[in-house]
Amino acid sequence: MAKLILNRLSKAFETGGRPAVNDVSLEVRDGGFLALLGPSGCGKTTVLRMIAGFEQPTDGSILLGDRVLADAGEMVSPEHRNMAMVFQSYALWPHMSVADNVGYPLKVRGVTGERRRKKIQEALAAVRLEAYADRRPADLSGGQRQRVALARCLVTEPDVVLLDEPLANLDRHLRQEMEETFREFHLRSGATMIYVTHDQAEAMALATDVAVMSEGRLLQVASPQEIYARPEGRLVGGLVGQGAIVKWPAACVENRLLDWETLQGLLVQSQSSEPADILVRPQDVEIAGEGMPARVISVLFEGERYALKLALGDEQVLRAFSRQPVKVGDRVSIVIRSAWRL
Ligand code: ADP
Ligand code: MG
Repeated sequence: MAKLILNRLSKAFETGGRPAVNDVSLEVRDGGFLALLGPSGCGKTTVLRMIAGFEQPTDGSILLGDRVLADAGEMVSPEHRNMAMVFQSYALWPHMSVADNVGYPLKVRGVTGERRRKKIQEALAAVRLEAYADRRPADLSGGQRQRVALARCLVTEPDVVLLDEPLANLDRHLRQEMEETFREFHLRSGATMIYVTHDQAEAMALATDVAVMSEGRLLQVASPQEIYARPEGRLVGGLVGQGAIVKWPAACVENRLLDWETLQGLLVQSQSSEPADILVRPQDVEIAGEGMPARVISVLFEGERYALKLALGDEQVLRAFSRQPVKVGDRVSIVIRSAWRL
């Protein structure tokens, strides 16, 4: 197996407008788990479909190791890429049993008999569905259907597994369970995985690397920890970690962590400096005896804590958590323990 390389990849559809994918360069290491994160319409599915071979790039190229899979002139067909794609809609055959659904790609490849049976069994074991081999998809829960779709993709031992928002149709509880399944699946199969999502928490929880896209362009690629701690620019900052972006007088360099003293110091000398964006995460905002005045504008009880939206004196909005009950309209004082200067 080898590294998957996107080299200055672009896709413009005939309908015109800005390109759906614009000059994206990216390397996914062999066995890596990359999340492609971005808002709806930013080009994630188009990137995935180009990797799978369902769309041809209008510019740039896709390589697996040193083998060119696609560029503007040539295309290796999807069935010759040894990749598997899992769709949001599962796409299971309703009239076939679970085992036959999982074994379908083997049938297409001419694998039969005992070998086929054994591979199906292994794939079902990998997603803990051995006991369901004879059922029909209609008799399964949403999560189980998703696991059948995963087993079906595992059965052909693909080099690269492509997943397009596979959890978008599931409820929150099931999503958490499925995140476990995906992580396990990744460890067991050793496949390179590319996972498309618009949900930052999902991307952070699952992937070893996160690539953030916006309007067809790639903004940042890094580990979840790095993206969280040092987001590059306000688009990435706004997407990860529920951070609020606030204007602050910022006579200081970009990409820096600021503490409360520094933030206060900047406020005092505010006349002399232009406002700039700082990213403030809710866990870094403390409701304190003294600090900046703020007004509670919304309260959501989350069981172990209250999630608040606060308006500062100038009506800028922050998020914060509180262990004590608070009401909409309450006046509080806050201390911002740290913020990231974008
Ligand atoms: P995402 O998966 O991030 O939501 P898509 O890759 O589906 O985004 O779409 C990116 C952009 O490309 C959108 O503006 C979409 O309307 C456009 N697009 C996608 N597929 C086609 C197509 N087959 N023909 C024309 N435009 C398309
Ligand atoms: Mg999509």
